[in-house]
Amino acid sequence: MTTLHPASVVVGSGRDVVEPVAIASLPVFRASTVLFDSLDQADSAGRLTAQGVRHVTSYGTAGTPGTMALADALCEIEGAGHPCRAALMPSGLAAITTLLLALLEPGDHLLVPDSVYGPTRLFCDGMLTRQGIAVDYYDPALSADALAPLIQARTRIIYLESPGSYTFELQDVPAICALARSRGVLTVIDNAWASPVFARPFDWGVDASVLPLTKYWSGHSDVLMGAAVVREALWPRLWSAIRQLGICVSGDDAFLVLRGLRTADVRMRRHQDNALAVARWLESQPEVRRVLHPALESHPQHAWWQRDFSGASGLFSFELKDEATGGLGPGFNAATAALCEGRRHFGIGYSWGGFESLIMPARLSGARRVRVWRGGPLIRVHVGLEDPADLIADLADGLAAMRQALSNR
Ligand SMILES: *Cc1c(COP(=O)(O)O)cnc(C)c1O
Repeated sequence: MTTLHPASVVVGSGRDVVEPVAIASLPVFRASTVLFDSLDQADSAGRLTAQGVRHVTSYGTAGTPGTMALADALCEIEGAGHPCRAALMPSGLAAITTLLLALLEPGDHLLVPDSVYGPTRLFCDGMLTRQGIAVDYYDPALSADALAPLIQARTRIIYLESPGSYTFELQDVPAICALARSRGVLTVIDNAWASPVFARPFDWGVDASVLPLTKYWSGHSDVLMGAAVVREALWPRLWSAIRQLGICVSGDDAFLVLRGLRTADVRMRRHQDNALAVARWLESQPEVRRVLHPALESHPQHAWWQRDFSGASGLFSFELKDEATGGLGPGFNAATAALCEGRRHFGIGYSWGGFESLIMPARLSGARRVRVWRGGPLIRVHVGLEDPADLIADLADGLAAMRQALSNR
């Protein structure tokens, strides 16, 4: 064998895959180029990739062993028992927008709950509307019967989010899915709140679910990713959109999400228990008018939570009495600042679903059109994995700071 020049050695050495060693956790796969043994194999991989055949890839953008493993896991967890496929996206919002773009056409009509995640609304009112897609918002608490008259001849999708962002209205998802199916309309749900362990949206009858993997699925506030999980029949349309748009995720990020998933069940049970302890304590505070948490008996649609969910996550809101906040009203003001700022455990931050506790006043003014918020200041908390006694003490300090701030005015 001829001796190779250094340039060839640095390119070619260390590339033989060491025979698999049994390791518990799937390694990171970083890849742009995929190599083939023959032109025939390259040709067939290209064709099968274009069709979206499972576990085939011709190029890194179409998937690597790591992203395929994560997509398989999501189908098993989220799709549980329903033939479906999952596509990974760079964020939860990208999963929502890409799926809607893939399924809708100019002239179509879309029904969206008024409690929808704010950025989803911006997309519906922005790019979707510009594409000639008509969007109507509906009251999330509507029964299926009351929703039926809102369905038009061109209605293609009823979008769902249960519970809704900030205000936590639950939807009668199984009944709405049955209605949609009987009218030839698709259902898409944003399954952010319940995490991978407490909800089975495909059992409720949805056609597709979008997951912010950024939140509980990864669970450590260190990665951004989303997924759309769809029934098999919708896969060709979704996959074709993804290939046309060039959407893909990195192997490192897929690794982080898959690692986070391993502990999702234990994390979620702790989030649930901590959040309920904090929520019950808040219910007994004189400043608090009510706590909006689906697992509390006081929640208006608690019965739907009992019927549909097997648990509750760490995210909920509480409403302050107007008089307790000096009549300053909802949003960011001196009273809510005193409550939220300087907490030892509750950080001020958007997003949620990581290990840590967060607190944020809701700013709903102008956002809602159908179910306008007329209550007092609304504070959303994400209850993390800290000890609940320390979290309660921290919020007690916050309420005391709010009282102090108002008495100093
Ligand atoms: C956070 C969130 C998303 C978006 O997820 P990102 O990964 O942050 O883009 C979508 N829907 C809901 C309800 C969310 O709370």
